[in-house]
Amino acid sequence: MNDDFLKELDEDFRDDPEYQALSREEKLRIISVLEKMLAMGIGAVYGDEDEGVPDADVPCGKVIQQCKAKCCTFIFALTKDEVKKGLVKHNEAKPFFIARDESDGYCPHLDRQTYACEVWHDRPLRCRRYDCQQDKAVWEHGFPIQVPSR
Ligand code: SF4
Ligand code: SF4
Repeated sequence: MNDDFLKELDEDFRDDPEYQALSREEKLRIISVLEKMLAMGIGAVYGDEDEGVPDADVPCGKVIQQCKAKCCTFIFALTKDEVKKGLVKHNEAKPFFIARDESDGYCPHLDRQTYACEVWHDRPLRCRRYDCQQDKAVWEHGFPIQVPSR
């Protein structure tokens, strides 16, 4: 979890020089304190999404059997609005990160047979905006199909 959390923070604070100046040990110490606060119920984390950013344009349907919806295992914080609406499950132990099933690491809203999102129209902004096409964590050997440029 710490490595995933660290990756998230590195991404979220990539433009923050104060965060970037921290050593890995300092970052991990912050994460550890944060996790303790979350576990004690005295802390919550919300995602910070810009409403004006358009959804990603990824041909998920064409490659879903290859990616096996890997992005639906990623851990991220829901926005305040998403928490308020209550349509997407969050992790009870870590408010308000999206829930993940311990058995397979997938989102509880994912149909395991078809890899369809069962809350598609209400899925979090982070799910809408994520573009995996350049992400080596999903496509180690590159995205499998050529997407025509517009
Ligand atoms: S965004 Fe990428 S990893 Fe996620 S379902 Fe679509 S193709 Fe698969
Ligand atoms: S809400 Fe839908 S798109 Fe987002 S992680 Fe869960 S199953 Fe995947």
